[in-house]
Amino acid sequence: MILYNTLGQKKQEFVTHEAGKVNMYTCGPTVYHYAHIGNLRTYIMEDALDKFLRYIGYDVNRVMNITDVGHLASDADTGEDKMLKGAKREKKTVLEIADFYTKAFFEDCKKLNIRTPDVVMPATQCIPEFIEMVTVLLEKGYAYEAGGNVYFDTSKLDKYYVFGNQTEEDLAVGVRDSVEEDEHKRNKTDFVLWFTKSKFEDQELKWDSPWGNGYPGWHIECSAISIKHGGEYLDLHCGGVDNAFPHHTNEIAQSEAYLGHQWCPHWFHVLHLLDSTGKMSKSKGEFLTVSLLESKGYDPLVYRMFCLQSHYRKPLTFTFESLDNAVVAYNKLVSRIATLKDEGEVDTEKAQEYIDKFKEAVGNDLNTSLGLTCLYDVLKAPVNDATKLYLVRDFEQVLSLGLIEAAKKIADAQADTGASDEEAQEIEALIAQRTEARKAKDWATADRIRDELNARGVVLEDTPQGIKWKIVR
Ligand code: AMP
Ligand code: ZN
Repeated sequence: MILYNTLGQKKQEFVTHEAGKVNMYTCGPTVYHYAHIGNLRTYIMEDALDKFLRYIGYDVNRVMNITDVGHLASDADTGEDKMLKGAKREKKTVLEIADFYTKAFFEDCKKLNIRTPDVVMPATQCIPEFIEMVTVLLEKGYAYEAGGNVYFDTSKLDKYYVFGNQTEEDLAVGVRDSVEEDEHKRNKTDFVLWFTKSKFEDQELKWDSPWGNGYPGWHIECSAISIKHGGEYLDLHCGGVDNAFPHHTNEIAQSEAYLGHQWCPHWFHVLHLLDSTGKMSKSKGEFLTVSLLESKGYDPLVYRMFCLQSHYRKPLTFTFESLDNAVVAYNKLVSRIATLKDEGEVDTEKAQEYIDKFKEAVGNDLNTSLGLTCLYDVLKAPVNDATKLYLVRDFEQVLSLGLIEAAKKIADAQADTGASDEEAQEIEALIAQRTEARKAKDWATADRIRDELNARGVVLEDTPQGIKWKIVR
């Protein structure tokens, strides 16, 4: 597979430490609130990557953390703890909040057909590993204690800013962002590995450590969890692009200082989902969730399709209008698949040609939108229905749009419509044209089609799942 690497900023052949095996790590959610659909764009694209690697034959071990402690409101180790903020907001304990929103996160993932990673590890279950790592960093001289906290000393590294070509000044803005400088830091980019002196003395979760009763910094959890469950040689590390700095930069600093060798050679970052005001984020107050989309009548898998239609390395702007376009595309696709008959022999030779094309398309920097084009090509291909269905099922291992299940529902419903297959296909096509005409505000065409449907005795019903119809003779 060819995959862009943020480390080095170019597309390159994806290679693994051990042939055929991928140790993959994804930064998990901070479980203080529902995930917004921007967070979920990142998880959908990571899921497609995970599944594509399996599809082309890799044995993937995917690890994800759950941040249930230590993520402060600012990336610069300051501000209130996000978990504590969530607990206060809902008058619950931090662990209750974590439990509730972890479940909510996986429910959303399920609706979006996101596979649960092989290892899911809450940070609060790995405290001894964090302590061990900080101890080693202190022994090796990469860390120091000051003012009650343990800091990583970034001046001990040959190179700290490993990503990008930003100047140090540009990047440092992120660190200084709206915060007074921590007077205990030796260098402005140093970061906390272990806190005992929190400005927020009501911190709920604390553990004993050689440096006093306290709690871990945010970055240490991903390093320690990934090394514990993905080994000392990670192949692929993923996250949203905002994670690259400072979070991933700090992960690399401490992991490589700890291990004494390169840790992860390939870094995958998903660009942001934007709304009309910029990056979608929880701090803005109102934010879009999967449940909200559902309450407006959208199938979550249409949102997955919306994400797969664009490249992960481009920012994606969300509007309901563009989601409506995805609804039309999704329904058309499903209706077409619903007309396929699972009969006859699969032409495996022909099928292989289409599989090769799909692998080449998606294998070029996870081009899922080209992957969808391959699917449309299959539906138009001069092959029999059995071969088409075989290919839809095959591509669905990566796309996971629930196409077969949705098509089956339509086919079942169609069996109740009173139309023959051929007639049903014609009616579906007319309904699709009418939807298009209405979208384009071409009322004359829409009315003409409606009259034609009426003449055929077709009764239409608008439902959240799209238009339903039957023939009343
Ligand atoms: P968090 O729960 O805040 O730790 O974020 C979970 C994941 O979502 C991280 O990988 C973030 O980089 C990613 N993320 C945050 N905001 C967005 C956004 N607007 N679009 C895409 N990914 C995002
Ligand atoms: Zn992380």
